[in-house]
Amino acid sequence: MASVKLTNVKKIYGKDTVAVQDFNLDIADKEFIVFVGPSGCGKSTTLRMIAGLEDISAGTVEIDGVVVNDLQPRDRDIAMVFQNYALYPHLTVFENMAFSLRLKKVPQEKVYEKVTQAAEVLGITEYLTRKPRALSGGQRQRVAIGRAMVRDSKVFLMDEPLSNLDAKLRNQMRAEIILLRQKIDTTFIYVTHDQTEAMTLGDRIVIMKDGFVMQVGTPTEVFDMPDNLFVAEFIGAPKMNTFKTDLICENGKYYVTPYGAKIEITGKKAEMLKEKGISSRSLILGVRPEHFKIAKKDDPSAIPCKITVNEMMGSELHLHVVEDNGDKLIVRIPTISLDDEERNSLVYGATIYVTFEGKVMHFFDEETEKNLLV
Ligand code: ADP
Repeated sequence: MASVKLTNVKKIYGKDTVAVQDFNLDIADKEFIVFVGPSGCGKSTTLRMIAGLEDISAGTVEIDGVVVNDLQPRDRDIAMVFQNYALYPHLTVFENMAFSLRLKKVPQEKVYEKVTQAAEVLGITEYLTRKPRALSGGQRQRVAIGRAMVRDSKVFLMDEPLSNLDAKLRNQMRAEIILLRQKIDTTFIYVTHDQTEAMTLGDRIVIMKDGFVMQVGTPTEVFDMPDNLFVAEFIGAPKMNTFKTDLICENGKYYVTPYGAKIEITGKKAEMLKEKGISSRSLILGVRPEHFKIAKKDDPSAIPCKITVNEMMGSELHLHVVEDNGDKLIVRIPTISLDDEERNSLVYGATIYVTFEGKVMHFFDEETEKNLLV
């Protein structure tokens, strides 16, 4: 059992640098929680307060129902993997992994058993006699994880563990962490600035900005129903297109009118607008790049625009376009949906017509930037 609960947790550095504001979260036993947000939003500080590496300015942190605010890090039964791995250069991989067990005077037999078991799980058995400098970034990463694993901690904290790796290795290690999680079966709290890591690893994601929690939810929840414009633009790549437009309610049907086009809102989103009794108004509309499609010129829902960049991603094209008022949009088109002639016509400066699905829009208030349907 290892639940973690944060109640009204706050961190103030010095006199008035508020790094974390009123953080509240209940983390269930064996849950994988990811803190994500841009640099400086307070992710690491929150993690370090849970670890006991930073004092808590206000509020409480509980582990398994026990308030740990005043407990030393070593008494909190947690393991932490840092961004820079913090391996001892003069010790072998085996001794790096065994270090905390030696401090606790664990018998040699037990140390051997635990280290070799963890090395087996992580696929680093053949490196146990090497020094860290003779390992690749990914291997060092595994040693750092192994060192945390041998401690049988209740909670596993990871602070940007993949950020020093190149893109390919990062993808590979991400998959390994998913497998590792199944093997270790403990509570994980993972910090990253990368929304892809957050989406793929987290059971739930905590999205932060300027010390505030902007939303807590499953990857599907934060993607499909972002609470606010910040979350909408932060989750998903390339990011959601957002623009001011009018919502029109006409004979029980809803339309949006971006850039002179008229697009009917359909499905669940139309029902939700009706349920909330939302009437005609101006708002910020959000549409993900993948929900756009190429339209015919005479389609009333078509938005004319010019291509500024065509990024060929392999299975899809990312078209950067600018519409007549100068607003920039990104449109994702699966290459398989285009014939050769269409593909060849999508060049810099070409005029194209785009539209989007009526059932996948997001609506935000211009002032509060909150999702109108939440
Ligand atoms: P993140 O992990 O999201 O990048 P941090 O938690 O490291 O953000 O930092 C949150 C805020 O607290 C930032 O504005 C940062 O400058 C500030 N901060 C972090 N550590 C200290 C410190 N030791 N002293 C003063 N300010 C700090």
